[in-house]
Amino acid sequence: MSFHASSFRLSAPHDHSRLTAQPNKESMIFRQPFKCNTCDTHYIARIQIGYADRQEHIINCDKCNEPMTLRLNLDQKNAGVEFGACENISFIDEQDGKPIYMSSDFAADGSKINNPFYFGSLEFMRDAAAAHVRRAGESISPQFPSVVPMAIAPVWDRLKKIWRLDSVKRYDISAPLKSEFARLYDIPDSNLDDLLYWFIRTIFDNKSTLIPEAKLAIEKKEEEFKRFLHYYSCDLKEHHWRSYFDIFSQFFDAFDQFSQVIIYTRNGIRLPKDAKVTSTNFDKTKKFYASAYEFYAGAIEMLTEINNILSGRAFDKLSAIDLKSFVKTDKAQRRNSLATNTAFTDASKEFDHQIRNASFHNWFYLLGDNTTIEYRSGGTGEAHQLPYIEYVLKCTRLFHQICELLILELFLGHLRREWALVTR
Ligand SMILES: [Zn+2]
Repeated sequence: MSFHASSFRLSAPHDHSRLTAQPNKESMIFRQPFKCNTCDTHYIARIQIGYADRQEHIINCDKCNEPMTLRLNLDQKNAGVEFGACENISFIDEQDGKPIYMSSDFAADGSKINNPFYFGSLEFMRDAAAAHVRRAGESISPQFPSVVPMAIAPVWDRLKKIWRLDSVKRYDISAPLKSEFARLYDIPDSNLDDLLYWFIRTIFDNKSTLIPEAKLAIEKKEEEFKRFLHYYSCDLKEHHWRSYFDIFSQFFDAFDQFSQVIIYTRNGIRLPKDAKVTSTNFDKTKKFYASAYEFYAGAIEMLTEINNILSGRAFDKLSAIDLKSFVKTDKAQRRNSLATNTAFTDASKEFDHQIRNASFHNWFYLLGDNTTIEYRSGGTGEAHQLPYIEYVLKCTRLFHQICELLILELFLGHLRREWALVTR
C-alpha cells in the first residue's frame, strides 16, 4: 500500500461491472397470485427482482393481520426465479386479489403499494438520476448507477471469511483468498485494510470527514498525536477490531432488512413520499441498534482524544477532567465532549440513547399494523412511536458512522506502519 499521511487514499475501484445491475432489471417484476392460509384473503404479489440470491418478504395480511412470508430464490446468472419455502400462504390461480408491491432494495411509496401499475424501482431510478445530476454539478465524481450497494451481501460473505481468518492469524489460508478477492473486484492491493476500504466505499461513497481532523491534529502537535497513537494501539485497537467484525456480521445477518434503505444514506437520494419498507422482520433488527450503539458510544473516545489535541491539550486531557474519569462517565453523555468540533458532531449525529435503551432492554414492540414501533423510555415511561422504516434508517446511519470510524482506524494503522511505531 502506498499512500501518505498527507494524502490518505487507498485506490478506489474502477470497475464495478460485477456488481452492476443487469439491463432493464429495474422493470423486472415477478407476479404471483396467492392467498392467506389463515383467512383465505386473495392477493397478487408483484415482487421486484433484486440483486441478492435470495429474497424474503414478510408482510401482514390486511384482513387477519397474520404475517405471511414469501421467499424467492434467484439465479442471477441465468435470470431464473423460483419460490422457496413460504409461510402462511398458498399459491392460487384466481386473479382477483389485491396487488401488493414488494422490493428488497428500495423503499416504496406507501400510497401506491397496492396500485397494479406501480413500479417503485423506476421512480427510484428517476430520483437517483436526478441526484446524480445534482452531484455531478457539485463535481463529486459520480458513481451511481455503476455501483449497486444492495448487491453487496455475497461480497460480504467472501470478505467475512478473509477477515475471520486474518483475525486468528491464519494468513496462510487467507492469502490466496485475498488475492482472489482483489482480482475479482479490481482492487490493486490485497491486504485486509485495502479490501475493507474498498468494501466500505462501495457501500458508502462519501469522503472521510474524520481523517482531515486527524491530519490537522498531526500538523498541530505531531508528538502528542504519536502519544495518542501509542495509547490507541495498546489500549483500543484490538477490542475495536473484534467489535467491528461483530457489528459487520450482525448488520449483514439482517441485510435483507437494511438493504431496503441503504441507498437512501447516499447524498441526494431521497426517500419516496410516504416511504414504506415492503418487508418487515423486526425480530432480526431489534437488537442491532443497541449493540452498535454500545460499541460506538465507547469507541468515539478516539474523536475526543483527537479533539483534545486540536484544542491544544494533551490527548488524555479534556477541558474539565482527564481521560481516566471520562471513560467512566455515562456513555449517553460522551458525545458532549465533541461539542466544539462541528466535523466530529456532524459525523456522529446518529446517537439515540432512548432507542438504545429500548433496543437493549427489549421495551420495543412492533404494533399490529406491522409498520410502527412502540417503545417506552425507561420501560415504564411515556410511550413513543417510530415508523419501522425510520428505525432501519437509524440502524443504517449508525452502521455508516461505525464504518467511518473504521476508515479512521485504517488511517491510524497506516500511520503506525509509516512511523514504524513500536507497540508490543
Ligand atoms: Zn389473513
